[in-house]
Amino acid sequence: MKEVKGFDTHLLKNGFHRINLLNQSSPLLFLKSLSKELDTPIYIKRDDLTEIGTGGNKLRKLEYLLAEAKNQNANRVITIGARQSNHARLTAITGKMLGFEVDLILKNSVPLDTESYQLNGNLVLDNIVDANIHEIPNDGTASNFILSLTKHYETEGDRVYFIPVGGSNIVGGLGYARSVYEIEEQSQALGVDFQHIALASGSGGTHAGLIAGYEILGKKAFIQAYNVQPDREPILGETKKITEGILEIFGISANPDYHLSNDYVGEAYGIPNKETLATIKHLAKSEGVFLDPVYTGKAFTGLINDIKLGKYPKGEPILFIHTGGVTGLFAYSNWF
Ligand SMILES: *Cc1c(COP(=O)(O)O)cnc(C)c1O
Repeated sequence: MKEVKGFDTHLLKNGFHRINLLNQSSPLLFLKSLSKELDTPIYIKRDDLTEIGTGGNKLRKLEYLLAEAKNQNANRVITIGARQSNHARLTAITGKMLGFEVDLILKNSVPLDTESYQLNGNLVLDNIVDANIHEIPNDGTASNFILSLTKHYETEGDRVYFIPVGGSNIVGGLGYARSVYEIEEQSQALGVDFQHIALASGSGGTHAGLIAGYEILGKKAFIQAYNVQPDREPILGETKKITEGILEIFGISANPDYHLSNDYVGEAYGIPNKETLATIKHLAKSEGVFLDPVYTGKAFTGLINDIKLGKYPKGEPILFIHTGGVTGLFAYSNWF
């Protein structure tokens, strides 16, 4: 959305700038075949089709994060993620577009050593835009590595801006608070009132932004996030921290509910299970929509199963946020 009156001006007044990366609203579509099958109207917000770098939810966060980097006169952006990170890919692409040097610290946090995982998917795109890639083991040394890399560049005269994993902090979360206005505009045009929203959560920023956005808008919505990290408490803690931070900027004291399900995590982060793969195939064949193996495949499995279990009110429309990650499928080619 070009402009969200009130929201945008309030943030500007409080020193939170935004660089416009997205010029169009992402499509909000009805899933005809699946809705019929489950006897429940299911819609999908195609944030996987946002317009830069093969799309994904991180772009909304990067609009605010990279604006802050510019404002701090940084010339170099450093971020961290798993080897197959969508966030790292989009940071690399948008960072380059805006003239930054970009360093990606890629942690070997997914226990896969197939050639396709090691060499394909997002990494190809990271390399196309000439991001500096630093591969590190998954042994708890990441924060030391970040510190020494930052120091190294700073002694060379660079100004470094660090983006945390998933772009999930208060600044990044603003992008998803803002997206609520886009969702509301589109649902009004469709004549549908979404009281139930479902999405994948990995580092909490998207979930937090949506919760905060609905509070700011003053609308009640049940936002069900499906965690893809086996540990629930740290993600829940981050989600609360980011939500409260955003609400504080808007001077809102609220006590929102947090719905974070760990029922569909599977055995580990980045490892799809049988159900995840079946859901990916099913949605591809029935709707032509491709989910990803790390996030949305698990979350959509949760949505379908929870609908079947009667956890969503019968007949009421549900909006699933497709947060992207399709490039990730190519790192898992031997699973299909
Ligand atoms: C990063 C990511 C998520 C999770 O978003 P968070 O804000 O980190 O919780 C979900 N889906 C995809 C495809 C992602 O890349």
